[in-house]
Amino acid sequence: MANGNNLTSCNSSILSSSAPSTSGTGISLNTNIREVVNNNDDVVNFLLETKFSRLNYDDKLFIVKLKPRPQMKNLIMKNKGSRGNRGFNNNWYDKYNWLTGSEKRNKLYCWSCLLFSETKQSPWTSGYDDLKHLSESLQKHGNSEQHTHASLKFKLFGKNNIQDSIDSAHVQSILKHNELVKENREIITRLIDMIIYLATQEQAFRGHNESRDSLNQGNFRELASLLSKYDNKFKVFLDESSVFTGLSKTIQNELIESINKVISEIIENEIKMSPFFSWQVDETTDIKVIADLKYL
Ligand SMILES: [Zn+2]
Repeated sequence: MANGNNLTSCNSSILSSSAPSTSGTGISLNTNIREVVNNNDDVVNFLLETKFSRLNYDDKLFIVKLKPRPQMKNLIMKNKGSRGNRGFNNNWYDKYNWLTGSEKRNKLYCWSCLLFSETKQSPWTSGYDDLKHLSESLQKHGNSEQHTHASLKFKLFGKNNIQDSIDSAHVQSILKHNELVKENREIITRLIDMIIYLATQEQAFRGHNESRDSLNQGNFRELASLLSKYDNKFKVFLDESSVFTGLSKTIQNELIESINKVISEIIENEIKMSPFFSWQVDETTDIKVIADLKYL
């Protein structure tokens, strides 16, 4: 490039930076790309020779803030007859902000696609010089799927802080959820211990009148009430829980079934591990005088 004003979108502080990069795993070309820019050399030509995708993150971040607008004085459409030659008009840069060019190659390119398109079949990544159909081609490319995808990548590049914020919020959400799960497990542990205690003592769980104003709400509820006097976490849970208190008959039965399942599995495993075992069978009658068979 011959004109120092070609890089209209450059950040001067970035241009003056020459500190070597320490991040990224790609080829380190800091010095080279900064030299290219500082010398007003052909950035597009540099990118065509050195693929953008192979650069490290710092170099990429530096490059996406550029948008070379070379004069392209040699890009001329030669008309037949007496109408003379028609050159490239720089106003196209204002109309299509993704438009760029290489004076060394004397061709126009799409800046977004040059950096981020994975499709190489477009003339806007390999070089365009047909001024006669420039208007139609610019419009067609601007509406193409390839260009849309590349433009999206271009605009999102370097916006990792947004992703970091999302990740941070997600981590906080998981930590909060895990804390809630931990608290719920502690409450369930108390309910399980209550059930094991009543079952071990062969006490009935339910009461005849379990309403709030009942003087005796049954062993399970009364035991919960007693524990809550000395266990503030359990008290807060019982006082503040509007849907699940763990005291309903459904929850009691589900916990009893779960405990039964765990005990059965333990017994089953003990039997499997034992070389031999005894099996005692007994019979008893219930209040309806129906015989029940018991396995011991
Ligand atoms: Zn494009």
